[in-house]
Amino acid sequence: MNITEKSVPGYERIVCATDDSAGYRGIIAIHSTRLGPAVGGTRFWSYSNDEEALTDALRLARGMTYKNALAELPFGGGKSIIIGDNRTQEREKLFRAHGRSINSLGGKYVTGEDVGTSPADMEFVCQETPYVGGLLDRSGDPSPRTARGVFRAMQAAAHYRWGSDDLSSKTVALQGCGHVGYFLAGELHHAGARLVVTDVDPERVALVVSKFDAKSVAPEEIYALQADIFAPCALGGILNDITIPQFQVEMVVGAANNQLLEPRHGDKLDQRGILYAPDYAVNAGGVINGCCIELLGWELSRTLSKIDAIYGTLSGIFEFAKQNKVPTYQAADMLAEEISRKPLAAGY
Ligand code: NAD
Repeated sequence: MNITEKSVPGYERIVCATDDSAGYRGIIAIHSTRLGPAVGGTRFWSYSNDEEALTDALRLARGMTYKNALAELPFGGGKSIIIGDNRTQEREKLFRAHGRSINSLGGKYVTGEDVGTSPADMEFVCQETPYVGGLLDRSGDPSPRTARGVFRAMQAAAHYRWGSDDLSSKTVALQGCGHVGYFLAGELHHAGARLVVTDVDPERVALVVSKFDAKSVAPEEIYALQADIFAPCALGGILNDITIPQFQVEMVVGAANNQLLEPRHGDKLDQRGILYAPDYAVNAGGVINGCCIELLGWELSRTLSKIDAIYGTLSGIFEFAKQNKVPTYQAADMLAEEISRKPLAAGY
């Protein structure tokens, strides 16, 4: 294993590792360990060049610092990348090599699954290092927990905008009936909301329509739908110059990562009077679940209470944005930066 370090301003450590015998090339980016070990998953992706992979690692690692800070978890932010084709069958050698490079950091970075990786891959990582979560038969599928957090965020947004948590008379336009979208649809149906859903996969749409009494529209029709809430649970970059002018909703609350194509789209939503619930605060239920159960050894009930606290996090962001006359996406970043600068309260 050949390990070199890069120095990048604003980041604690950037490790680049190669192991030719395993066909492994990886990057571990540690943004901050101020609140605790840097936690963030391993992305397995084919980049067009190394610079692009590094840029992605840096952006994702910083995002994890913000996400963990706002969720008030005793963890910092980091992310790792394995560069290559994630459809490969040669996984053991690769992920064990990755495990060794993680282990060389002595616990400063703890990984888990992300795009292109699975719990089975994490079992290989675990053969080389204890600094891994998201293992088989541990905290389980994060999607229902993520959906629970999104639902609580929606209630907080509803309370802020309409003065009540009650979603029973509201129409939600839900994009993406995948893992999170399915469970979110269930929560919303249970709360009495009206659902209009879409997905590029007709089978996923059909399941949500039949189970949760939803209506469906074609994928391109979801943006201009007359509804109260748009819930993006599919793609990143979905809040952009094409979609925002079409919206006829009062708020955007969803699970998708990196919803704003560019920061200025957060301004654009604000100018249109559409309340944007910042994605990394909204979708923290999965990471809270994994961290609290696997890394902190919490009981499920305590973990679920922490996921429900996403309600308070979102309320805090909305109030802060109002008081400081900034768009909500900026408010979230400012609050996350403030939290990550000071030690966490006792209780962990
Ligand atoms: P998923 O792949 O299970 O579901 C995504 C769904 O979106 C799929 O059904 C797919 O067919 C659909 N889709 C793709 N392109 C579409 C389009 N153009 N229009 C409509 N539908 C489209 O993924 P997931 O685990 O449910 O995650 C959804 C989003 O939430 C992702 O952005 C993910 O990064 C984010 N997220 C997920 C979790 C989690 O716990 N799974 C946690 C945090 C964030």
